[in-house]
Amino acid sequence: MSAWIAWYLANARELPWRKTLDPYAIWLSEIILQQTRVNQGLPYYYRFLERFPSILDLARADEDSVLRIWQGLGYYSRARNLMKTAKIIAFERNGIFPDTYEDLVKLPGLGPYTASAIASFAFNLPEAVIDGNAYRVLSRLYDIDEEIGSKKVYHSFRELAQNLMLGYSPSTFNQALMELGAVICTPKPLCQQCPIAENCLALQNKTIHLRPVKKKAKPKEKVEMYYVLPISNSGDWILQKRPAKGIWSGLYVFPEVEKSQFRFESAHFLHLKHLLSHKEMDLYFELREFESVEDYPDSQLITPENIEETPFPVPFLLALQHWKLL
Ligand code: SF4
Repeated sequence: MSAWIAWYLANARELPWRKTLDPYAIWLSEIILQQTRVNQGLPYYYRFLERFPSILDLARADEDSVLRIWQGLGYYSRARNLMKTAKIIAFERNGIFPDTYEDLVKLPGLGPYTASAIASFAFNLPEAVIDGNAYRVLSRLYDIDEEIGSKKVYHSFRELAQNLMLGYSPSTFNQALMELGAVICTPKPLCQQCPIAENCLALQNKTIHLRPVKKKAKPKEKVEMYYVLPISNSGDWILQKRPAKGIWSGLYVFPEVEKSQFRFESAHFLHLKHLLSHKEMDLYFELREFESVEDYPDSQLITPENIEETPFPVPFLLALQHWKLL
């Protein structure tokens, strides 16, 4: 596979986490980049390192300030697991990051992919990474028709990559494989620029569009939800903190109401569509004055000076921006 490694060494994008061996920075980048594109993730990576330069800073941070920095990235369980892992490393391991795959994979929020990535990028251990990019490149290169998604198929791809890695720097091999999938062997691949086109069986067999074989996605569940943001004359807001589990965990939302309590005729009514990986949401928002916090169970009063520090999910941020409240 020397062709793709030579291509990588000549063409690699300059990314800040590729210039460090600090496992803390590499771990942050890997968690941010799960389900997030590089361009979107970059400013978050810089912001995190600026605000929390060490794992101890992150371990000592309060949840709202971490979620506030994470705000907009979605999949908030990632941020909550970051905090859990930071505390384990800072307070139970004297701030020393685990340096084996076996210890890394036990940490909250680290699956086989992330543990392999940190083990290879920070410690140059021979642990092959299998992410969506690696699946795409390998399934096309070898024209593999097995459906991805199961543990069994994951292990067969990993074994294949482990064998291909022999004789190369594990860090460079993994980066090169993923970079090829991210830049050349994309869903609509640029085969004419591909350094391994000569060896590509899917190109020869004209099966590129069929690789990798994926499970058919289930249709998204449709849901409608109604929220009101009660604001007092003095600028206090009533908000609800989402529980630790489930959608928007740990973030603040407007109190949810029944459809019958919602005033569609209000001048401050807004409808937004919001897509999640498994849901298609119709969200209805209304701004209204309030008389008493008791009218909104499980809610709390947020004073104007605390609003800046309050983390919101993206659709609620959009509603606040629409009403020019943020
Ligand atoms: S030739 Fe095309 S399909 Fe094959 S590995 Fe290269 S980019 Fe992917």
